[in-house]
Amino acid sequence: MRRRAVVIGGGFGGLRVAQRLARYADHEALDVVLIDQSPYHCLRPKLPQALGARIACAVHVPLSALLASSRVRLLTKQVTGIDPAAHRISWEDGALEADVLVLALGGEPCIPPGMAEDPSVLLPVWGFDQTCGIRRRVRFLTDAARRGRAVNLDVVVIGGGFVGVEVAAELQGRLTRISHGDRRASVTLVEAQERVLPRLSAWAGRAAARRLAAGGVHLSLGTEVLHVRAGGVALADGRRLDAGTVIWAGGRIQAPGLAATSGLVDETGRIPVMDTLAMARDADIFALGDCAYSVERGADASEPSAHRAEAQADIVAQNVLARLRHRPLIPYRPGPNIYVMGLGPRYGILEVERLRTAGLAPALFKELVILRHLLEAGGVAALRGAASRVVLDELQPARWDSPPLPEGVVHATQVSGRHGE
Ligand SMILES: Cc1cc2nc3c(=O)[nH]c(=O)nc-3n(C[C@H](O)[C@H](O)[C@H](O)COP(=O)(O)OP(=O)(O)OC[C@H]3O[C@@H](n4cnc5c(N)ncnc54)[C@H](O)[C@@H]3O)c2cc1C
Repeated sequence: MRRRAVVIGGGFGGLRVAQRLARYADHEALDVVLIDQSPYHCLRPKLPQALGARIACAVHVPLSALLASSRVRLLTKQVTGIDPAAHRISWEDGALEADVLVLALGGEPCIPPGMAEDPSVLLPVWGFDQTCGIRRRVRFLTDAARRGRAVNLDVVVIGGGFVGVEVAAELQGRLTRISHGDRRASVTLVEAQERVLPRLSAWAGRAAARRLAAGGVHLSLGTEVLHVRAGGVALADGRRLDAGTVIWAGGRIQAPGLAATSGLVDETGRIPVMDTLAMARDADIFALGDCAYSVERGADASEPSAHRAEAQADIVAQNVLARLRHRPLIPYRPGPNIYVMGLGPRYGILEVERLRTAGLAPALFKELVILRHLLEAGGVAALRGAASRVVLDELQPARWDSPPLPEGVVHATQVSGRHGE
């Protein structure tokens, strides 16, 4: 009798689990189904460069292309319900039952309640749409300012972790480029701790702060943001920072609402799993990547990381097969945290335990990691198509920032997002 493994989420973790399992489709009489709400696999680590308009905004690759030569059945559906007891997954016009269920739903930023009266003024850089929206907004405001309109070009980025640091560096680089040195255009990075990159070593924090300051980013450290309103943010130390754009890169992440409405998360907002990455209540349901955390290690130890999601995917694939073969499950043993981030063109920071380096090499290393990911996920064909868009474009940064728009088309651009956006 054929059995069915259903993987929800075609991101860094889920795509890899599905591809690993599909290798055993014949041998194990296994149907592997991958469901994602998007037809694309999003390369999230490239979003900051897309925000900075150093590369095309489309930092994603069609899942169908990545799965073309595999035995994975792809369904482009937004899952709206998971019944864990029945292993039943449903969406608007259909449903499916699974023998083994793998949840790789990713995460979403958890913005503290009350932080913004109007949540739409607080912009996260999490997905492709959000990133492209902010990119267009910055361009629109810059063009409007050039025409003498009273707009605020300043940007506040909330959160000095690795996403906030990358985003601030990229945005400042772009503002400097397109505002032609307009002094009004600056980025302020606000971090509640006394230094940026508080989860990394003091060395990494200093290296990032130096690089950001050299690029023109203002740092506001040791004070929290109390609330955000249209036009700026209020800080706990009584100051107010005026800004036309406020970006959220702070706080913790949680599993998407689907996991909560399906009763899968605990008070951390993520799905608790054992060290085998199976849920304690059902060894045929696995969860990995950003949506899950290990109850043995605690939510704090499970930082969002593409590298971690991929490493977990290898264990989940082995454990799904173990369940089908009635064998014992193996534990996931996390390796050292690998931190590698890019802070604008040709500069990165890498920290793996005591190995620390900054400069060109980490920036190149980050690109190589993405290339390796594409190669493993989709072979040479995927690499050829995507690499020119998401990596090589960085070598010619001006290409994605067109000259200022003629008077009269600014509003059209805001809507359509054309003209190099
Ligand atoms: C700006 C930014 C920069 C980053 N930079 C780095 C970096 O440099 N290095 C690094 O290691 N990590 C980085 N990360 C973190 C990394 O991208 C994530 O940790 C990684 O993508 C997690 O993989 P995942 O499989 O858990 O989730 P994801 O890759 O997010 O995939 C989740 C998938 O689930 C799908 N999905 C969700 N809900 C549903 C539903 N209801 N129905 C169907 N499908 C659904 C989504 O469409 C998505 O495709 C960065 C993240 C961000 C936001």
